[in-house]
This record gives sequence, structure tokens and C-alpha cells, in this order.
Amino acid sequence: MWLTRRPRGPLKDTISLAAFVLAVVAACAFVVSGFAGGAEEGLRDTRDQFRMGSASGEIVIVEIDGRSLEQLDTWPWPRSNYADAIRKLDAMGASQIAFDVDFSAYSNEAEDAALASAFAEIGQPALLPTFRQLNQAGAVQTYTEALPIPEFREHTFVASVNVAPSANGRITYYPYGVITNGVPRPSLANMLANANGAVGADFRVDQAIDINSIPRISFIDLVQGRVASDQVAGKKIVIGATAIELFDRYPTALFGVQPGVAIQVQAAETLLQDRARSDSGQVLPLTLTALVLGLLLIYRGRRGLKWLPASAAALSIGAINLVGALVLDQLSAVHIALASPLLFVGTFVGARRIMAAMATIEAERMTDTATRLPNLAAMQRKLLAHKKPWIAAVRFADFAEIGALLSGEDQVKLERDIARRLQLAAGGEDIYRLEAGAFACFASQRQADSPEAEFAAARAVFNAGFEVAGEKLRLNPHFGLAQGDIKGALDAAETARKQGLGFSADAQSLQSDAQFKQRLLGELDEALENGDISVVFQPKIRLADDAISGAECLVRWESAQLGRVSAADFIPILEEKNRISALTHFVLAQALARREEALQQGHALNIAVNISAQLLTNREFVEEMLAVLSKEQVGTKGGLTLEITESAPLADSSAAKTALVDLAEAGARISIDDYGTGQATLHYLQDFPVQELKLDQSFIRDLENNNKDRIMVQSTIEMAHALGFKVVGEGVETAEILKILRALGCDYVQGWHTGKPAEWSEYFAMVTGAAEAAKSKAA
Ligand code: C2E
Ligand code: CA
Ligand code: CA
Repeated sequence: MWLTRRPRGPLKDTISLAAFVLAVVAACAFVVSGFAGGAEEGLRDTRDQFRMGSASGEIVIVEIDGRSLEQLDTWPWPRSNYADAIRKLDAMGASQIAFDVDFSAYSNEAEDAALASAFAEIGQPALLPTFRQLNQAGAVQTYTEALPIPEFREHTFVASVNVAPSANGRITYYPYGVITNGVPRPSLANMLANANGAVGADFRVDQAIDINSIPRISFIDLVQGRVASDQVAGKKIVIGATAIELFDRYPTALFGVQPGVAIQVQAAETLLQDRARSDSGQVLPLTLTALVLGLLLIYRGRRGLKWLPASAAALSIGAINLVGALVLDQLSAVHIALASPLLFVGTFVGARRIMAAMATIEAERMTDTATRLPNLAAMQRKLLAHKKPWIAAVRFADFAEIGALLSGEDQVKLERDIARRLQLAAGGEDIYRLEAGAFACFASQRQADSPEAEFAAARAVFNAGFEVAGEKLRLNPHFGLAQGDIKGALDAAETARKQGLGFSADAQSLQSDAQFKQRLLGELDEALENGDISVVFQPKIRLADDAISGAECLVRWESAQLGRVSAADFIPILEEKNRISALTHFVLAQALARREEALQQGHALNIAVNISAQLLTNREFVEEMLAVLSKEQVGTKGGLTLEITESAPLADSSAAKTALVDLAEAGARISIDDYGTGQATLHYLQDFPVQELKLDQSFIRDLENNNKDRIMVQSTIEMAHALGFKVVGEGVETAEILKILRALGCDYVQGWHTGKPAEWSEYFAMVTGAAEAAKSKAA
């Protein structure tokens, strides 16, 4: 339906663009603030559930658990307990024996000696822990290394067991080794897994290795001989504390709080199974996501891919991200970050929805609920974009009474029908429904200049009745006009309605317009004197010999106060205020003087002057013209053409006709200007002493493309010739148009293509130049 508001395509694109920018900003803030990192950890925990795997079983924990503590009652244990344990493990074929037990201090000589000799006796060097400790003395930070006592180090290796919990208390990263005071120590996990990772670097402990699947043997069962040798044979053994009372415990992502030794083994398993994962970071996936969506939106805009909603596109990209990352979780050792890309997609979709909803609400606010026509709010908003535009409003006599007799549905239909007719009358302008039975639209300056005619035409559109509820209804419109003021226009329409007038204008608006006209008139006399108003000459070409046969005089007003005032703007005002005669005398005088000047130099030109039709009914003016013509003898020289626009005064007044006859008799050629725009037919013009028709520019401009215009021009030329008129084509802007007019037998042409209006000196140079050229061609 052409009355309802236009499809909101461009607006939707604006919303997508705004949502996109917002999403980019939000995602960047998310990354920079560090929130993305926190969210990523949470997401990773969930993703890890899908990656869950078991421990290899290669590494076995011998746990110092609550039961062992209970049965071997002193703590710290006599070190002969450990001596006993490692002898048994060695005997059962353990491939490696490691401790996560602190041996950095002496206990008693006999016990220490017992363990030292066990270390020496078993067939392999055990792994003992060392850890770096921070000494914070004032501002200076130093480290010391807590190594096992020298007696134990003789037949063993040491491995670092340092871990650094992250902010959430978890052991997320684990070192390949630690350098303390320049001495590098590979970590326990590194050595257990034989990984040879670079000391100083960290790796991520894989949380998706099931800690509960690490085989465990209770220390007490081991020393009391309740362990089968296949539980130990060929395995790497880590002896460490799991008892709650020994406090060595850390929170994990998926397995609650776990003993340090279990986490050490989880770290070792990460290396052993090659499950240390690298991280894409947020920036790369976010950039790619934004880039793909951005390109897709641009492509969509260019190709008009309506079937692909922007939100659906974004959600698909989000889904592809998610699935892609989950698949890569299974297939590769790279963790693709999802937090910021998903936030980006979510923000985009959410922001779009909110903005679209707001736009819908806004559009709804701008629309009359029942008729779906734009309403007062819409017009007020449009008003802001204009600079004091003219507003035409309309009300109808008895609308309230008629409305009262109609059902709601019929009222809506009637109002829509009214709006459609108004739109026709307004040349397609948007029609706003302001109140029941009150409508308005923006009007042009031209319409405001001649409101009588404009509104008369608009009233004619309402001559035909409306079909409502099976009945014919006639509505009588009353128009109001105001500048920049909707209420003023409505009030003016109300005044017109009350007083039974066709239209009325807001007094203040008219005043400001009137003020402008008054100023213009005030400045006219001065302008004629001081040269602000001048005459330019536009060449007229005779197609028979391509010579410049003459010129049309056109006025120019270059006002110091008002700027350049177009002839099309001020001539109608002068006509309206009956001030056109002074100007015409001025132009005529210039025309005749220049013509005489040219004649002295051997160029007989025909000069055309525009005469307002209303001047012809002014006998005083006509007498003055006749006096000039006889005095100058121009008549006999055939050098003056008077261009008169076919118009109401010309048609209606016998005085005008008499004037034309007299002027023609005095020797002036009479030309009908803007032919084709008025009502005059050729046959009617036959009664007038007319020699020439100037086809209006509107028929010429589109001659190349418009077949109707071509037919009109062709038939007019043929008929004009049959009746003895010459024909001028004006507004010739291209060579193509000139060619067509020539082919159609047109007599004269005038237009920018053959010569723009110019100062006399410039014009005359064209005349002499063309004559020279013609002469040399003939010779
Ligand atoms: P008009 O008599 O139809 O004058 C032709 C207008 O078309 C002039 O505009 C001229 O500059 C313009 N024109 C000429 N060739 C071309 C072209 O190839 N393309 C286009 N687009 N335009 C072209 P201008 O000078 O602004 O005059 C406007 C109107 O003002 C004139 O229309 C005429 O009606 C009136 N006018 C101008 N001078 C006088 C005057 O001295 N007395 C009276 N009464 N009216 C005048
Ligand atoms: Ca003219
Ligand atoms: Ca014209």
C-alpha cells in the first residue's frame, strides 16, 4: 500500500551497523578488562567435561592417608618407615620411586641413617623433592632452596615440586622446572614423564585428566605386605600425603579439593599423555568472528540478501565458532577461546533486537494507530529537518457529523481514501493525519506563492464523491497555509472552514512572506538605477543558415542585500504588485540601444523582450510602447520581438488582444512564450497577430528519450507551419536535441548548447565571430 510508510530497509542496516559497533566495543572492553579471561576459564571447565580422559595408570600414588597415619601413630614418621617402603617397592619392580615428602631437615641420626642406606641399597636413584622458598626481609626478596639433607642426596635425584596457584586457588599452570639462585631444577612432573621440557617455562595442567583414575596404594598396605606386585611392577611410584590433616591440598576445577601429590601426578600425566594444551587467546578468534560477520553484513547489504537476517547470520557464526572449538578440543591440542567471540555475537544479536524494538516503538509513535498514516509526531519530527517550510493543512466541513454516522471501520477507510486523494493533489508528498478529519503536508515555495490556484486544483480532486458503506459522500475541503507552524496551518484551515472559504493563510506567515516582497519592491527602483539589475543576451540561432539571428533579453538581479535574486523568483512578485512596467521599460530601452549599436556595425539582429501578459491590459503602458516603437522606427526595421506567455490575461481580456494588434501593426513581432503549458490552442491563436511560437522547455528537455514529447513537438511544428507561425525550440541543452529539432523542421533554437545568456560584449563577440566564420566558409 503506497500510503503506509516505506519499507525500513536502510533503517535496518543502520541498526545492524550500530549493533555491530556496539558489539565490537563491548567485546574489546570484555577482553581488556580481563573479564573475558575469567569467563573463558568457566567455559573451559565445561568444555573439559567433554574431553575427560583417564590417567595412564603408569604412575601410582603411594598415599600417606588417614588410615596409615592412624596405624603408624607418630608423625612425623620415623624415616625407617620410608626405608621399608622403598625396599618393598624396589623389590616388586617399581620402575621409578619419587617422594613428595619434605626431607629438608634432620630427624634423628639412626632414622636418617636407615633411610640414607635404603636409598643407597635400592637399584635406582629415587627422586626427592626440592622447593624454592621466598624470604621476605624488608624490601629485598631472596630465595632459598629447601633441598633434602646432604646424606639423602648422595644416591638420589632432586626434582622441584613448586607450584603456583592462580587467583582462584587452582593449580592451572605448572612449571617444567624452577631456577633458584641460578640453579635449574626440572620439576617432578617433567622428570616423571621424561618430557625434557624447558626449565623456566610453564604448561597447563590438563584438568580433563580424571584424578580419581590415578591408581593409589595406601602406605600402610604397602608396608604390611597387602599389595600385589603387579600393582607396582614397571610403574612409577610417587609417595605423598593425602591425609586431610596434612594440609597439602588445593582446589581443582572438576574434582573438588585434591592433595598436592595428586595434582603433581595429574601434571605428570598431562606431559606423559601429551595433553598440554596451547591457547589461541581472545584476540584472534574475536577478530576473525567480527571480520566474518562484518564482511557478511556488507555482502548482504550489497546483494540485498533479504532471506538472510543479520541476527541469524550472527548466530550461525557463533554456532560455527562453538562447534569448531569443540571439535578442535577433541582433535587438537589448541584451545580456541570462545568467551569474547560469543559475547560479541550475543551483544550484536541482543543490541539489534533492542534497537529494532525501539525503532518499532518509535515508528509506532509516528503512526496513527487506526489509519496507519504518519501522524502529528511524525510531522513535527520532519519539521525539525526543514528550514521554516510551508505547511498546508486541510479540514472538512461537517466531518464530525459525517464521522458520527459511520462505523469505526468505515471512518478509517474514509480517512485513508481522503489521504490518498490529498497525496494525488500534493504530487506524491507524504500526507500526515493530525486529528480526525484533519490532514497536512509540506508545501513548496511555488505552491505558497500562488495558493489560490494550488488549492483550487486540490479542491477539484474532491469534486468526485467518496464511496462509504455503499453510499456516495461528498466532502468539502478547507485548506490552511502557514510557514513552519503546524498548528498555525491547522488553525488557518479551521478559519477557512468556519468562514466557508476555500483556503486561508496564517496571518503571521503571510506577513513574513509579505515583508520579503516588500523589501524586494523597496529595493527595485534603486537596483534599476545603480546597475544591480542588468540585462543579459541569449543567442537565438536560425537553423536555415545556422546564423545568430538575434537574442532574448533576460534580466539579472545581483543585490548587495538579498544576494542573487532569480528572475523566476522576482518577476512574479513584480507582476503581483503591479511593478513590472518600470522593469520592462528598462529592458526595452537596453534592447533597443544594443540593437542600434549592432546595426551601426552592420549586424541586423532581432532582439526579443519578455512582456508580462498583464501589461497588455495596461493601456498606459501599451501607449508608451507604441510611442517608443514609432519614434525608433524599429517596427519598420523588423528588429523587435515581444515574448508573451500564454496565460489567463491574454485569453480573457479583449484589451490584451487589442494591444497585441496595435503593437503588431507598429512593427513588433509577437511570440507566444512557454507554448504548450497553457490552454491556448493553435486555432485559437490564429485570431491573434502572432508570428512565432516558443515551445516550452519542458517538452524539449527530454526529447531524446520521451516519445510523447517528440510526437507533441513534431505535430506542433507541422501545424504551426501550416498556420504560418515560426517555431522556436528553447532549452536546447545537447547536440542530440538540436539534431532532433533540426530533423523535425524547427525554425529557431535557443539554449545552453547553442549559447548561454551573456553580457552584451560577450554576446556580440559571438555574433561577429559567427559572421566571420560564415563568410570565410562561403568564400
Ligand atoms: P523564459 O522567458 O522562458 O526564459 C528562458 C529561461 O530559460 C531563462 O531563465 C534562461 O536563462 C533559461 N534557459 C535558457 N537556455 C536554457 C537551457 O538550455 N537550459 C535551461 N535549463 N534553461 C535555459 P531566467 O533568465 O532565469 O528567466 C526566467 C524567466 O523570467 C523567463 O523565462 C521569463 O519568464 C522571466 N523573465 C526574464 N527576464 C524578464 C523580463 O525582462 N521581463 C519579464 N516580464 N520577464 C522576464
Ligand atoms: Ca522568454
Ligand atoms: Ca520560455
